[in-house]
Amino acid sequence: MPIVLLKEGTTETKGNQAQRNNITAAKTIAEIVRTSLGPRGMDKMLVNNIGDVTITNDGATILKEIDVQHPAAKMMVEISKATDNEVGDGTTSTVVLAGSLLSKAEELIAKNVHPTVIVDGYRMASEKAIEILKNASTKVDPADRQILGKVARTSMASKLVSVNAEPLSKIVVDAVIAIAEKTSDNSLKVDPDSIKVEKKAGGSIEDTKLIQGIVLDKEVVHGAMPKRIEDAKIALLNAALEIEKTEMSAEIRISDPQQMQMFLEEENRMLKSMVDKISASGANVLLCQKGIDDLAQHYLAKEGILAVRRVKESDMNNLAKATEGRVLFNIDELSGADLGYAKLVEERKVETDKWVFVEGCKNPKAVSILVRGGSQRVVDEAERSVHDAVMVVKDVVEYPYITVGAGAPEVYISQKIREWSASLSGRSQLAVERFADSVEEIAIALAENAGMDPLDTQTQLRAKAALAKPKYGVDVINGKVADMAAKDIYEPLKVKEQVISAATEASSMILRIDDVIAASKSKESAPPPGGGMGGMGGMGGPNPYMDM
Ligand code: ADP
Ligand code: MG
Repeated sequence: MPIVLLKEGTTETKGNQAQRNNITAAKTIAEIVRTSLGPRGMDKMLVNNIGDVTITNDGATILKEIDVQHPAAKMMVEISKATDNEVGDGTTSTVVLAGSLLSKAEELIAKNVHPTVIVDGYRMASEKAIEILKNASTKVDPADRQILGKVARTSMASKLVSVNAEPLSKIVVDAVIAIAEKTSDNSLKVDPDSIKVEKKAGGSIEDTKLIQGIVLDKEVVHGAMPKRIEDAKIALLNAALEIEKTEMSAEIRISDPQQMQMFLEEENRMLKSMVDKISASGANVLLCQKGIDDLAQHYLAKEGILAVRRVKESDMNNLAKATEGRVLFNIDELSGADLGYAKLVEERKVETDKWVFVEGCKNPKAVSILVRGGSQRVVDEAERSVHDAVMVVKDVVEYPYITVGAGAPEVYISQKIREWSASLSGRSQLAVERFADSVEEIAIALAENAGMDPLDTQTQLRAKAALAKPKYGVDVINGKVADMAAKDIYEPLKVKEQVISAATEASSMILRIDDVIAASKSKESAPPPGGGMGGMGGMGGPNPYMDM
């Protein structure tokens, strides 16, 4: 009699079978994104269940959009997300590397190397790899616009916007430098939320602009208000210009018309006094997070004040940083000292919308990038590329080390790790060697995607890798191995470190699993009759699979 431990309908997959399933699922994910790696990588067209189309080359976006079911595949999706959040770039590389680490591990498992040995070997190798690369990277001046520009351009090289990388990278570098703040230990800190990226389809990518201030996708609230104010003194208010309605349902009985009149007049007087306070502070622009009553709008217009209502909280924070004003919660506290400044506040037409531009701020600590492009899909992808570029520039500003890209650092690491592995003994050496092979796969994938011969490229790269620093990489544009420093292909060391550590972590996590116990989800996915714990072991019953 078998002892039943698990609830009916639960499936358990054990040992080799569980491992094989997980590795296969994760590898499948890696294969999907592999062809999109690098400037010659292909884009993916993703259609979601309501028919929306996304065209992208961004690893994290691809994986976000496809609906992955298998738990191991989900882990791959998660590392690409984590990499996106941490460093903003290298998402495809992370997944490709994790995939090749797993497929090399599979070979070792087939030779009876225990997964724990592989995991240990990978961990040692990844630490060594990061150390090797750090020693071979170049320290830069975090305020060097030229270097930052090169890094930004490299991140855009693999995207749809690559033809416009020059002007876009300049915008991104200017934006990041504007908002970078010195910390107490004299390093720089960049808060990417201080760069508001607003997008609008129409025009072309070249029309993308940096605004020294904030763009609000809102219009001026009242038709009689001015649409343009120079030398704007801006009140930032997080309070309603309305008479508060009571929470309880109160009833006011009015017996004669005069009472009604008095009641309205009182309301009127209160609104007027609110507007008077704003006007008395010297403000000529009011940006309000809450509502503005019709009558208050009328009084504001009479005072010649330009007002916008229901501004988002994140915009209010950025407005305070850009204009050096203070967001107040109470109109009574408003004084001239709280007002922000902008050279110009103006409502402009952007395609069919009317937006308010708060610009020409002195030394703004928050700025906007208004992304334009021929169609919605183009601006969507351009926005993602701008985000990536902002992040890589941030990476270098905060951690000022760079390395040549284009597969050069990967080949370099792999060479050095192979040399180092000779000093190791035991089976973990095998794992370390496999790690070296896996890292090299990035360069091979770049070459393959450019239609180059992977073996030829590999041998040429290996022949050139004996230098003190990574230098020769896959010149995918000209289809040959070349000095990539001469081509200005530079990447943040931080991205490379994240790629290695995230990929190692994910592959180790997957390798350590030898037992998958899955509760039955619903009726349809319940196992066939007879499939209890006893029957399923080692057979790999109805495992969760990828559903795309
Ligand atoms: P990820 O999501 O990993 O950033 P990408 O598709 O952006 O993937 O490709 C990044 C890879 O492309 C990096 O290894 C980078 O060095 C390389 N790369 C960028 N520009 C070039 C270039 N002009 N020639 C060759 N490789 C390049
Ligand atoms: Mg990239």
